[in-house]
Amino acid sequence: MLLKSIRNFFADIFAGLPIGAALAAVMVLGVFSLVPSLNPSGEHRSAATVQSFTTRLEERVAVKLGRNENLNILLKRYGLSQSSAQELLEKIHELVDWRRMPKDQAFNLVLDTQNRNVRTVEFVLQEHIVRASATLGGWSLDRQELFHVARLNLVRLKAGNSFSASAARAGLSRAQIAELQRTFSSELDLLLDLAAGDEVHVVIPQKHYLDGHVVAGQMAAARVVAGGRSYEAFGFPDRDGALQYFDIDGHLLPRAFLTAPLKYERISSTFDLARPNPATGVLRPHEAVDFQAPQGTPVIAVGSGTVEFAGWRGGYGLMVELKHAGGYSSVYAHLSRLAEGVAEGARIKAGDAIGAVGQTGHATGPHLHFEFALNGEKIDFLSVKIPGADSLTGAKLQQFKREQEKWLAVLRSEPNQLARLELPRWY
Ligand SMILES: [Zn+2]
Repeated sequence: MLLKSIRNFFADIFAGLPIGAALAAVMVLGVFSLVPSLNPSGEHRSAATVQSFTTRLEERVAVKLGRNENLNILLKRYGLSQSSAQELLEKIHELVDWRRMPKDQAFNLVLDTQNRNVRTVEFVLQEHIVRASATLGGWSLDRQELFHVARLNLVRLKAGNSFSASAARAGLSRAQIAELQRTFSSELDLLLDLAAGDEVHVVIPQKHYLDGHVVAGQMAAARVVAGGRSYEAFGFPDRDGALQYFDIDGHLLPRAFLTAPLKYERISSTFDLARPNPATGVLRPHEAVDFQAPQGTPVIAVGSGTVEFAGWRGGYGLMVELKHAGGYSSVYAHLSRLAEGVAEGARIKAGDAIGAVGQTGHATGPHLHFEFALNGEKIDFLSVKIPGADSLTGAKLQQFKREQEKWLAVLRSEPNQLARLELPRWY
């Protein structure tokens, strides 16, 4: 039965051939299909030939820059023309910082075995594999980041004698310490204002590469606990992808001064170096801004700082003076009362209530006499250019809040739990 169907099958194919010849043809076909190089069919022959062609005609060599050699010299040593080497160097320079190439940089060259032409140049630099391939249109380059695992590093610092020294001991780079200082500069001066017991927590993303080296990224989030208050900063990218830092409410840090120290009805007197005194008519400088507002209106701090003075002082009546970071200070006078906790040395955050509008001291009616100074010299608060009064809003703010939840969890967590957290794509 089986034999009969096989015979029918061959009978169909080799109709007209004697059965012996048909069997011989089957055997020959079998041999050809096992040994493709012997197969007379054109299609199979070309496939087999291309295979041996690629393995035979390319040669991979590993080379290093020699003494006093640079890539340009090396490429010429391997036969590249001046113009081709120049084009390649220019294209490489667009991808990697050429100056950071080590003196003994290693390269893989793929050479054409027959004419010794360089077909491909490969090297690893700055955590990337750079591959340049010779094409008909010139050199074509691509760059791929090496495989790595992203981890978060939580650094916890306790304020000691010197913030920068303990931060450096904890492994923060000079740039990271400067970034921390700058970010919190409107809140407090990390170099001067930290006292024993204050703490700084910083989250630094790290990339761990297969070869064991670690590259630290930009600070992702930080918290400063000082004088019983807590200040946070969270990284969030701007339109161009550059990281900026925002406080817990999405206000840009370092924080700009608030636009006014209260909700006022009108400005009754501006900063004026020659104003007639309302009582005597004598021209006297009014190096302040008077905000008219009803008795009892809450007065708030225009920026974070420390209470330098809180109490009674001559014509100012009941007043508060705040010292801010960066050499700025602010004075709030003619107050009817002080807010709770406002005493010399107390830390105040921007927007905190410090007292209420009144007419103590030399005041003709309830108003806030507000002075603003830089390094002790009174300046016009209303004309101070306040950099980047940006706050996140809308969808950006929502995205920021979602990221913030993660960072707050990280800041609360123990270091060994950190590896499980996923980094946002901009790190
Ligand atoms: Zn005044």
